Amino acid sequence: MKPFEKRVWLSTPTMHGGEMKYITQAYESNWMSTEGENLEKIELEICKKTGCKYGVPLSSGTAALHLAIKLAGVKQGDNVFCSDMTFAASVNSIIYEKANPIFIDTEYDTWNMDPVALEKAFELYPDTKVVVVVNLYGTPAKYDEICAVAQKYGAIIIEDAAESFGALYKGKQTGTFGKYNVLSFNGNKIITGSSGGMLLSDDKETVDRARKWSTQSRENAPWYQHEDIGYNYRMSNVIAGIVRGQLPYLQQHIDQKKAIYERYKEGFKSLPVTMNPYDADTMTPNFWLSCLLINKDAMCKQERSDTDSFFISEKGKTCPDEILKVFEQYNAEGRPIWKPMHMQPVYRDYAFVTANGNTSEKNVGEDIFHRGLCLPSDNKMTVEEQDKIIEIVRSCFE
Ligand SMILES: *Cc1c(COP(=O)(O)O)cnc(C)c1O
Repeated sequence: MKPFEKRVWLSTPTMHGGEMKYITQAYESNWMSTEGENLEKIELEICKKTGCKYGVPLSSGTAALHLAIKLAGVKQGDNVFCSDMTFAASVNSIIYEKANPIFIDTEYDTWNMDPVALEKAFELYPDTKVVVVVNLYGTPAKYDEICAVAQKYGAIIIEDAAESFGALYKGKQTGTFGKYNVLSFNGNKIITGSSGGMLLSDDKETVDRARKWSTQSRENAPWYQHEDIGYNYRMSNVIAGIVRGQLPYLQQHIDQKKAIYERYKEGFKSLPVTMNPYDADTMTPNFWLSCLLINKDAMCKQERSDTDSFFISEKGKTCPDEILKVFEQYNAEGRPIWKPMHMQPVYRDYAFVTANGNTSEKNVGEDIFHRGLCLPSDNKMTVEEQDKIIEIVRSCFE
């Protein structure tokens, strides 16, 4: 097999034309600022789509998470529970407010926060009032169980739906299960504004506060009057034009990503691997990234230090870092599973809770990180390209 002439990507933006129309409208009407029709329209459309009552378009998903943490009343020294297997943005906003993240281990059914570990964490830290829950790779977390545990201990949920826009849990859109919810329109997400994010909530008063904070907390006065610390977190009307042009294609992107996931699943049937799982009875993921997990007995030896990887090839076996290396040789982009937060040098001093409460034993997040990888999942990938990716993975087991 020859390498791909055109690189096959993990996940890249897909433009459709309407984006340019709305950018041009902003330009020609001179609404080149953080106000304008594009912003008004996406706010309404995204609220309608998700079913959340109120929303504020912001400069990034990270900005939305930061404002959510502030709205939740998190103060210096407070404990905040957070999914362990996630992107660092979920955690950083907790640190911005000088609070203590406590990482909650993952379950194997959806690769999201384990409700059993969450309950354990509340037994250990009963005063915790906020839980940040992530829907990894576009698969919803187990909200029935997680919400029940949070409710039992009087805590609120912040839903980080940055990766899962358009996914459903029991027929309800993700981005609606928290008191505060976060979307991202970063370049690699299911739809994009090139950057941008959104805060969603059913609570009008708090959304109004976030809106004010996002524009430097200007008071209603003839001059710049400030009674609160503000941020420059507003989305630009030009970015909103891109998001506006993308919104009609959300479902198309999901359908394409789902087809990719199904083809991988079929293609890997005879191999000792599984795909990133979900519960089909309760969940409709947006299939943002397709991932695979190598069976334990089909893993060759693989060791990772903080920055390097070593593996020993073995007949009939492979490992994520071997597959990723071979992908690179063929000019295809894969990625390791998001490295769990409790394993990150910058967060190593914070607590980590597993289902059995024993953090010294091998935990689920570490195991998925060890045996899993993200496959090229770009919605513009052709069937032929995907067949070749499947062949490449197969060859790693030979
Ligand atoms: C992308 C992402 C974010 C951050 O969104 P930005 O818009 O890039 O700031 C937060 N959480 C998760 C899980 C993400 O994947």
